Amino acid sequence: MKILFATPECAPYVKTGGLGDVSGALPATLAALGHDVHILLPAYKGMKVSGEIGDGVDLPAWGPWPAAQLVPVKVAGGVTLLLLACPGLYQRPGGPYVDASGRGYHDNALRFGLLARVAAELGTVHSPLRGWTADIVHANDWPTGLAPLYLGQSRMISPHEPTAASVLTIHNLAFQGVFPMESADLLGVPHHWRGMDGVEFWGQLSMLKAGLQFADAITTVSPTYAREIQTPAHGVGFDGILRARASRLRGILNGIDTRVWNPQSDTLLPHRYSAQKMQGKAQCKAALQARLGLPADKGAMLFSVVSRLTPQKGIDLVLGALPRLVATGAQLVVLGQGEPDLQQALQEAQRKHPKQVAVTIGFDEGLAHLVEAGSDVFLMPSRFEPCGLNQMYSQAYGTPPIVAPVGGLLDSVTDASADPARGTGFVMTGVDSEGLDDAIGRAMRLWREPQRWRRIQANGMARQFGWEDSAKQYVQVYARALQDLR
Ligand code: ADP
Repeated sequence: MKILFATPECAPYVKTGGLGDVSGALPATLAALGHDVHILLPAYKGMKVSGEIGDGVDLPAWGPWPAAQLVPVKVAGGVTLLLLACPGLYQRPGGPYVDASGRGYHDNALRFGLLARVAAELGTVHSPLRGWTADIVHANDWPTGLAPLYLGQSRMISPHEPTAASVLTIHNLAFQGVFPMESADLLGVPHHWRGMDGVEFWGQLSMLKAGLQFADAITTVSPTYAREIQTPAHGVGFDGILRARASRLRGILNGIDTRVWNPQSDTLLPHRYSAQKMQGKAQCKAALQARLGLPADKGAMLFSVVSRLTPQKGIDLVLGALPRLVATGAQLVVLGQGEPDLQQALQEAQRKHPKQVAVTIGFDEGLAHLVEAGSDVFLMPSRFEPCGLNQMYSQAYGTPPIVAPVGGLLDSVTDASADPARGTGFVMTGVDSEGLDDAIGRAMRLWREPQRWRRIQANGMARQFGWEDSAKQYVQVYARALQDLR
């Protein structure tokens, strides 16, 4: 199959969260299964890409969009990266979605409208890449949500011309890509699709809703989240559409990129280790403590968080548990960035307890690896979690996670109290302070029993979190979407 994977972020070139990791790994796994995979990604400022660069294809100015270029680069893993170069829209200081001060770019509708438009075009007979038309256009989250709508539009205009089947993956339903309805004119959304059955969401235009309405198939990143988002409690206004489209919706658990996240080969770690030889892990703990200015105390149980700092991730619950952690002599390491009040509260905790709490505000891939390796327990008390990757990384690194009983966390962690033989971490009884306190208490008791603790570590390290099974499930989704279309 010819697969176009359209995404606003892709590790290692540009990443703000889990979608970046998925984009870095799933296309390569699909290519390894024998498929012809192209990744469509905006060419942001400062991105470093190495590979064999092909001839650029000019895309003429079009509707509200300036002229752009598609630059194919053959990158490692047998995948072609199609860089969408449009300097006026993408070459800016700041991240993919927000400017240097953290505010969404004023013209995000145009920036991602172009990405979706080009993705859709690559799935039609008018594909700008001569000789290459996608069979599948795989859109990811709201920034590419209009691609299925644009494909639908092509089918309406030219019913006899074949188009790609469209698949939308929801990585986080909370990000809905909402813009004033006036953008519909700019983006070329037909009038008859501007109502409730189309892109309308509380009087505005939602790019995510466009994808949910028009995609031939919808996936999300864990089976539990696929069920949760069909309920009012987790559907954030989209549960009705998702229930209506339930027969087209499937949850496929993300994998982890074992080329990048493997304690035996991780070049970002000062020491490597395996379940059989764990000395390297203790050395990583000492290195982490030294790097962050914490006392090099083997006996201090080290808890950690690597996360966007938002209410979603339950960072307030971690702050609530902090006094108790500190009172028991434990250490806490936090790496993250996000909401100013959470950042400040964490920094305040560090000022109060400089020998036990170390907070790093920022995005630091290397430190994230050292935190996963060097801590004893990873904390992830998320209020909702579509899949979550860190709890899988931490299991692979022998760092049992404490997780909330939601979404992909439930699908990827086995509770060690409920199932001592197979447990890999601790599942909170509820997403609240009692649930977190209880899980921390259970983890602390087991940590003092080295044999039982090693068992939990070994169980987690033996888990197969690779991408291959999940990639095969995506292929099934693609095949069915194509079959239904043709
Ligand atoms: P989400 O996509 O909701 O942010 P995930 O757990 O799915 O959460 O993925 C987060 C990814 O981003 C992981 O690879 C994690 O290690 C990484 N990450 C998050 N915050 C930071 C940070 N401050 N520094 C480095 N990596 C981070």
